[in-house]
Amino acid sequence: ITPVVAVSACLLGRPCRFDGTSKPCEQAMQLARYCKVVPICPEVAGGFSIPHPPCEIEAGTRPVRVVDATGADVTQRFHAGASRCLEQLRDADCRVAVLKSKSPSCGSGQVYDGSFTGTLVEGWGVAAALLRDAGVDVLDETQVDRLLEPLRRARVAHNAGEQGARA
Ligand code: SF4
Repeated sequence: ITPVVAVSACLLGRPCRFDGTSKPCEQAMQLARYCKVVPICPEVAGGFSIPHPPCEIEAGTRPVRVVDATGADVTQRFHAGASRCLEQLRDADCRVAVLKSKSPSCGSGQVYDGSFTGTLVEGWGVAAALLRDAGVDVLDETQVDRLLEPLRRARVAHNAGEQGARA
C-alpha cells in the first residue's frame, strides 16, 4: 500500500501564499519519492485570491476569529477552506499531513497573535486544528524526517528483498 501524505502546497513550491510566494521545503518535496502526496492549500480552497492581505487569528478568541490586515473578518472563509481540505484528505484516505508552521490556516502549536507585529503565541491554524481533531497526524516542515526515515528504511528493505528473491 502506498502511504498518502497531505502537504501544504506552498512547501511544495506553489506560489500560493498571501503575498504570491512559496516556501519550498526540500524534505517535504522528497516525500513524493516514497508516497502519494496530496497538495492542499486551505486559503486557496477558501476562495482567497493571490495575493491577498495577510491574515492572523486574534489571540484568545473562542471560537477563533480570523482577521486580515485591513481588519476584515475572514473567519468563515478560513473554515470553508479547512472543510474542503478535510474532504480532500478523506477522499484520498490520508491520515498524515505536513503543514506549514505558524500559518493561520496550517500552523500547528504556534501562530501569530492577530496584532500583525510578528508576535507568536501558542495555537493552531484553522485547517490544522480541524484535521487534528479529525484524527489526522499533523506535522510541520521541521518534522518531515519522522516520516522520511521510516519510508527510506522500508524502501531499502523492500529493494533488498527483491534482490534476494532474484539471487
Ligand atoms: Fe501554505 Fe497553508 Fe498558507 Fe496555503 S494556507 S499558502 S498551504 S501556509
